[in-house]
Amino acid sequence: MSARGLFDTIVGSFRQVLSALPDKRTGKNTRYGMDDATLSAFSVFFTQTPSFLAYQRMMEGSKGKSNAQSLFGVHKIPSDNQIRDLLDPVKPEQVFPIFEEILQVLEQQGQLKGFRSFADTLLMAMDGTDYFSSSQIHCPHCSTRSLKSGETHYFHRVLTPVIVAPGQTQVIPLVPQFVVPQDGHEKQDCENAAAKRWLLQYGERYSALNVTVLGDDLYCHQP
Ligand SMILES: [Zn+2]
Repeated sequence: MSARGLFDTIVGSFRQVLSALPDKRTGKNTRYGMDDATLSAFSVFFTQTPSFLAYQRMMEGSKGKSNAQSLFGVHKIPSDNQIRDLLDPVKPEQVFPIFEEILQVLEQQGQLKGFRSFADTLLMAMDGTDYFSSSQIHCPHCSTRSLKSGETHYFHRVLTPVIVAPGQTQVIPLVPQFVVPQDGHEKQDCENAAAKRWLLQYGERYSALNVTVLGDDLYCHQP
C-alpha cells in the first residue's frame, strides 16, 4: 500500500470512530458532523500550525477546496467556536479507540516490522508531560505542588506511551493515561501510579506484540 493509501486508510478508521461520538445537539439542525469538528481540530495539531484552519477557510472561500478537505476529508470546516462547542462535552476516553484502530491498521499493513529493534521487540517508551500549568486557574482534577514562595502551583499531567525505534523519525502514540486524583486515594496521583494503572489495563494487549518497555529514572528503584 502506498503512503497516501495508508494515510487515507488511517483517516478512514479515524473518521469511523469519530462519527460514533455523542452529539449533544438535538433536532435536525446539524450542519457540521462530529467527525468534521474533530478532524478539523486534529488537523491543527497534525500540521503544527495554529492558523491552519483560518488559512483553510480562506482557501475554501477562494478556491472552493482546501487541504483540510483533500487530506482529512473534512466536508465543511466549522468555526473555532463551533468546534469548541461540539468537542467540549466529549470525554477523552471516547476517542481512545482511535489509538487502537490506528495500531491495528499499521499492524495489518506490516508497518510495525520497521519498528522492531532490540531483540526483535517493539520499544514502548513511557513518559509523562504537563499539558496545563497555572498558579491562578485550577479545577478539581488538578495536581498540585507547593512553591517555595508558599504559593500553590496547579498542573495537569499525562502519561503518553509511544512506540519508538532508532532511526525512525515517526513514533506511534498509544492510549494515554491521565495523572488525576483517584477515587479512594488520599495521596496525590503521580506518573508512576498512572504507569501502573496503564500496564494493568493494557499490558496484556501489548505484551502480545512482544514489547520492551522503556522508562526514565523515575521508574528506577535500584541503586
Ligand atoms: Zn485542573
